[in-house]
Amino acid sequence: APTKKVCVVGSGNWGSTIAKIIGNNALEHPELFNREVLMWVFEELIDGEKLTEIINTKHQNVKYLPGIDLPTNVIAVPDLTEATKEADILVFVVPHQFVHRLCNQIKHLVKPDCIAVTLIKGFEVAEGGGIHLISEVIRGELKIPCAVLMGANIANEVAHENYCEATIGCKNPEVGSLLKTLFQTAYFRIVVVEDETTVEICGALKNIVAVGAGFADGLGYGDNTKAAVIRLGLMEIVKFCEVFYPGARQGTFLESCGIADLVTTCYGGRNRRVAEAFAKTGKSIDVLEAEMLNGQQLQGPATAYEVYFMLQNKKMEDRFPLFTAIYRICKGEKPVADFIDCLKSHPEHM
Ligand code: NAD
Ligand code: 13P
Repeated sequence: APTKKVCVVGSGNWGSTIAKIIGNNALEHPELFNREVLMWVFEELIDGEKLTEIINTKHQNVKYLPGIDLPTNVIAVPDLTEATKEADILVFVVPHQFVHRLCNQIKHLVKPDCIAVTLIKGFEVAEGGGIHLISEVIRGELKIPCAVLMGANIANEVAHENYCEATIGCKNPEVGSLLKTLFQTAYFRIVVVEDETTVEICGALKNIVAVGAGFADGLGYGDNTKAAVIRLGLMEIVKFCEVFYPGARQGTFLESCGIADLVTTCYGGRNRRVAEAFAKTGKSIDVLEAEMLNGQQLQGPATAYEVYFMLQNKKMEDRFPLFTAIYRICKGEKPVADFIDCLKSHPEHM
């Protein structure tokens, strides 16, 4: 069989890290994958020089993943059409707010037997008061299957090849096994489960909880409080699946995409860090994101809005007090000092 051409759509902090992994695995498995791995890059100038040219000559993404060498078979491409039109496997890894627009640009040219996998954490608000999963947006626009990969994966640690795990959610076992070969390395260990919806929801919702963990840190509460935020967050994630996406396997919450991603993000993530600064400085989230992240994008505050949009429409805010409080605080509707008060009559304790 001909080898599969892989395109990574995205080249941020996680996108560049995953391109490193896929580039190396393409070299390890020449029988399965095309040697060249294309990476679509949202073009920008760095000191007057195009980021794609820097990546293709220095083999580093100096802005979003500085100090990490990318394999030379990863080729940065600024034109989305050029990057994606020949692909057999599309790996989506952009901040979630951009994915719909990108899919819309390529929907007429994607090969009909192409498959997708999304590493994107977040939702899209839907007309009528609900949400769409990002995998649903991709499937709906491109008319191709879409699996998911989520896990406890702070990009810089993975880029340094520190041991960690991830979860692939994929209904088709053959595709799941191909994707495992594409992503797994000695330091990046993968479990494939069929419960793809739960895997994706865990990945999206934990970013909201991480914002809460950052508030607790910024307010100076200490480890017990943070553990309570993490646990209540997990209970709301489980409840969210029960209410809106029934059929989750309980075991999925114990995979890397569930409890492990929640823990790592609530200790080491960008959402936590910016939320801590929000509680300490009183500056807005947008200002802090711009000041602290050098172009990287937070997903938690936007996801809190998307979830709140649905909860409010369905009059279910009371059942999800942690998610609701985090949204209201980010929005400025509630002072951050009130955060812990919002958890005192949590349904878990009633
Ligand atoms: P990032 O936070 O580094 O975001 C910056 C990227 O967005 C850059 O590549 C930039 O060029 C691009 N961008 C800016 N404006 C754009 C536009 N208008 N259209 C398209 N792209 C634009 O990105 P990331 O860390 O690679 O995150 C991508 C996804 O992966 C997110 O959903 C995130 O939650 C998830 N994720 C991130 C990590 C991590 O540690 N960074 C780990 C796991 C999952
Ligand atoms: P942050 O976006 O909060 O850094 O979280 C990264 C992540 O998703 C780790 O798995």
